[in-house]
Amino acid sequence: MTRPILFIDLDGVVLQRRNAGIFDAFEVAPGCLEFLEWATARFQCRWLTSRARSGWPDGVRRAFRAAGAALDDPRWAVLDLIDPAEWSANKSEALDPKCEFWWIDDAPSRHDREWLRDHGCEDRLIEISTDTNHDALIQLMQCWDCDFGRKVRPK
Ligand SMILES: [Mg+2]
Repeated sequence: MTRPILFIDLDGVVLQRRNAGIFDAFEVAPGCLEFLEWATARFQCRWLTSRARSGWPDGVRRAFRAAGAALDDPRWAVLDLIDPAEWSANKSEALDPKCEFWWIDDAPSRHDREWLRDHGCEDRLIEISTDTNHDALIQLMQCWDCDFGRKVRPK
């Protein structure tokens, strides 16, 4: 059985801003590793981030390292299970309305919101911000089954 795809944004989701207003100063969000282990066990995970827009994962590793992640720790091998999704102008280029997917992002663009609405996929967007709610990843794992797990997409 094919697992649903989970698109995961980096900045503001698995990495949180250290201080509002300081660009590119991030730290690993609370529960990030647990979340990635949880997510990769359930979904085909893909990064959907401007840090790996062209489809190369190096920007993702660089971002985690800069945020203080000890990538030599074997637990961070979970990053090897997640490939970046390719897009250029809009993140929705990576989405396929015919596929079962979820997308976690803190700041989807207006264009991408419209794309989701036009394709009847608004309920696939999960908006969380670890910048404003540091426990958002932990709460998402705790609430997934009651909030999202029961939503089966009509074919
Ligand atoms: Mg973001």
